[in-house]
Amino acid sequence: MKSILVRYGELTLKGNNRSVFITKLVQNIKFKLKHLKEFVEYKKDNNSLTIEVKEEKLEEVLKILTRIFGIYSVSIVDIVEKNEQKILDKTLEIAQALKEHTFKVEVERKDKSFDANSMDLKIKIASNILRNTNHLKVDVHNPENKINVVIKSDGVYIFTSRISAAKGLPVGVSGKGLSMLSGGIDSPVASYLTMKRGMQVDFLHFMTPPHTTPEALDKVFQLAKRLERYNQSSFSLYVCDFSMILRELMHIKEESYRITLMRRIFMRIGNEISNIIGAKAIITGESLGQVASQTIESINVINRTSQLPILRPVITFDKEEIIKISKEIETYEISILPFDDVCSLYVPRNPVTKPKVFVAEEQEKDLMLEEMIQYAIDNSVTRYVYRDGDLVEKEWLHKEN
Ligand code: ATP
Ligand code: MG
Repeated sequence: MKSILVRYGELTLKGNNRSVFITKLVQNIKFKLKHLKEFVEYKKDNNSLTIEVKEEKLEEVLKILTRIFGIYSVSIVDIVEKNEQKILDKTLEIAQALKEHTFKVEVERKDKSFDANSMDLKIKIASNILRNTNHLKVDVHNPENKINVVIKSDGVYIFTSRISAAKGLPVGVSGKGLSMLSGGIDSPVASYLTMKRGMQVDFLHFMTPPHTTPEALDKVFQLAKRLERYNQSSFSLYVCDFSMILRELMHIKEESYRITLMRRIFMRIGNEISNIIGAKAIITGESLGQVASQTIESINVINRTSQLPILRPVITFDKEEIIKISKEIETYEISILPFDDVCSLYVPRNPVTKPKVFVAEEQEKDLMLEEMIQYAIDNSVTRYVYRDGDLVEKEWLHKEN
């Protein structure tokens, strides 16, 4: 068995919420490691969690843990009894295996009842290493290796490295949001960043068959599934067939407003679905000024149709910055597959860059908006439910109520 020490990071700052957050985090960790149940054991105390793992699953567990929001860093640790000789033996064993030449010993005494002064113990450990090895020397300022010794109530934890993890807050502590997922590069990144602040994310995608292909839809499925690493283990993807509404939008007077009106309807449908599923925010991948529908005027005209807050995590990001994250979270390769989502086929020749609220409202009067939206909710939304990475159910949304 190997032991992994899991550190909570930012959670330590959050006074009252702390125990709620930790409970949620531990629950999320257990869900993500559910398929490895037979290989892991948990030991929890107030400040950290230790996971015992069978050696053959160590790499896999580390990879999963470093992607779970709320975990700050992890270390592979050796745990020995609170006995000075045991500490000296283990630290020497670790030192003997080090390749580089300089080291420093750090001792932290969390269990104050342990009968040794940190400074004394540090000196004893270092001199024991120097006496019994001939390839190492001490460098307190810029060591190539740090040998950390943490004395806790249940034992002495010894480790040489900290593996940085996802940080952020445990998914679920900020409630649930509905992310408009297009199949492009930006919206998966926006979804990921929202999860980072503790929001569980369900997805909503608009498709317009036959103009959008099954491959385009498949991309969205792949994206939602790829994001599952960071998300709650169970989530839903809502797919709305928007073709009928889009056909209506072909007849509006101001062709240049077609995308604006489309976005306003997306938003209204998103709000309706959010109310049904208990989502507290809508998330989009909009970035200021990136395209005509993302000018501040457009954002204003779109905002008017939402009762819920709209979170736009990448609003200030350059495309390059968004791409960098999408590569890190491995959504990029899926996003750049060449299949078009709803927008591209119906883009007017000159989309309006500074739409006006009254012009949008004026044109909506010619549409049977409420009926259209209600009809779409009742008949055109399919809900795909994922549990622990697998698609487990497919149903029409309205059957839920
Ligand atoms: P993305 O890369 O996320 O597609 P984009 O730069 O292509 O973004 P737009 O196509 O203007 O931008 O879309 C802006 C936002 O509107 C998207 O980030 C997404 O949140 C939402 N959106 C666009 N198309 C769809 C769709 N077919 N289904 C669901 N949401 C969509
Ligand atoms: Mg797009």
